[in-house]
Amino acid sequence: MFDFLIVGAGFAGSVLAERLARGSGKKVLLIDRRTHIAGNAYDHYDDAGVLIHKYGPHIFHTNSKEVFAYLSRFTEWRPYEHRVLASVDGQLVPMPINLDTINKLYGLTLNSMQLEDFFASIAEPKERILTSEDVVISKVGRQLYEKFFRNYTRKQWGLDPSDLDASVTSRVPIRMNRDDRYFTDTYQAMPLRGYTRMFENMLDHPNIKIMLNTDYRDVVGLIPYREMIYTGPVDEFFDFCYGKLPYRSLQFKFETINKSVYQPAPVVNYPNEHAYTRVTEFKYLTGQEHGKTSIVYEYPCSQGDPYYPVPRPENAELYKKYRTLAEQTPGVHFVGRLATYKYYNMDQVTAQALTVYDKLSGGKKFRFDDMPVRTYYQVLLPCPLSIADDEQPVTVSQTVSQDATTPAINKNLTPVHAQHNRALNGNGATRIANKA
Ligand SMILES: Cc1cc2nc3c(=O)[nH]c(=O)nc-3n(C[C@H](O)[C@H](O)[C@H](O)COP(=O)(O)OP(=O)(O)OC[C@H]3O[C@@H](n4cnc5c(N)ncnc54)[C@H](O)[C@@H]3O)c2cc1C
Repeated sequence: MFDFLIVGAGFAGSVLAERLARGSGKKVLLIDRRTHIAGNAYDHYDDAGVLIHKYGPHIFHTNSKEVFAYLSRFTEWRPYEHRVLASVDGQLVPMPINLDTINKLYGLTLNSMQLEDFFASIAEPKERILTSEDVVISKVGRQLYEKFFRNYTRKQWGLDPSDLDASVTSRVPIRMNRDDRYFTDTYQAMPLRGYTRMFENMLDHPNIKIMLNTDYRDVVGLIPYREMIYTGPVDEFFDFCYGKLPYRSLQFKFETINKSVYQPAPVVNYPNEHAYTRVTEFKYLTGQEHGKTSIVYEYPCSQGDPYYPVPRPENAELYKKYRTLAEQTPGVHFVGRLATYKYYNMDQVTAQALTVYDKLSGGKKFRFDDMPVRTYYQVLLPCPLSIADDEQPVTVSQTVSQDATTPAINKNLTPVHAQHNRALNGNGATRIANKA
């Protein structure tokens, strides 16, 4: 008898599996219908030996020291600040729009104070900010809206910004200085040996059994369990009884190029040209050194894997109906991006899962001393941490873990490729049962 059947081995399901097994001694069966763990964060080595993200670039960033400390138990980190250029008017300029973007685009030499005046002169204030178009035009005026946002948003969402919630573009800040980082979070880093390896470490516990390539519906009547944690799409769980919740999807086109560097930034956005929205070059993210390089083009589309909940009021209303059903379903806990129909980043899903764990374990906060003893070594991001009131503050530079066998510096990830595949094939630390 399993204490928990967990549907979905992404961040939501895996964090809960880890906590329930290691923190509370529960027996857990973790099921995913994909052939791998790690959900959308899954990364692997392509045929050329370059580490790529199968479901598009995943950049880790958070302001939560608790989330960063928790994940640091399962990975070392590589400091990484994400940068994006946008192809506009035949030039590559920093995105989000900053002082350099405007000076380069218009051939000006403004300083920060003058830039504020510049924006004030072109902004078109709106009495009520209702749509994404209102957000952008009220901040930077119509011309920059047309150059950077309108067509990108149309491609990304299949909708004009005037038909999209204000929340979509309020995520895109405008900078008065020359800061060209895409994110400004306190903690910005990538798992040194990739997300999949981090998940393998997380799920390496005798109380966790993993079944891949298995839809939970195929086994739900056959395997006894006490409670379920469901991280799949909430509408699917209820057989779409109120209709389908709309999602935007992506087609990915991967390419390997026979030179070591392809483009001048990790991501180049194409707001106005091409059917794809952006091109990502993975080696910038992973720090891997390799004679070849791999990139991915993203083509937004309406059919395919559910990636982005479409933020429109009628969809929020539809979700509310499913949420009411979910609340009335005893013994099933709905957690994660798909089960709560929210665009959550990885850190937000981790935080949500840790909060659910706290509730399931009777309000007890997760503690560092629940965790296994690992080897720690000098690390990358010094940041003081304090998790529970009754614990000593911990410093991440003391807590990031390192297997004794792992090379300390990410000079060449290729040897890990073989280890990584062994682990996925079931000969490594993680016990994985693939359905026949
Ligand atoms: C293109 C893209 C880029 C992103 N980039 C970033 C980024 O840069 N930074 C960031 O923080 N976040 C990013 N995210 C968000 C990130 O992917 C999510 O926050 C995270 O993956 C959510 O984890 P989850 O466990 O809720 O869902 P998922 O990772 O989707 O996991 C759910 C799992 O449930 C499984 N499942 C569903 N139904 C069933 C079933 N019936 N039976 C068995 N298994 C089932 C699925 O196969 C899936 O593996 C990005 C998302 C996308 C789509």
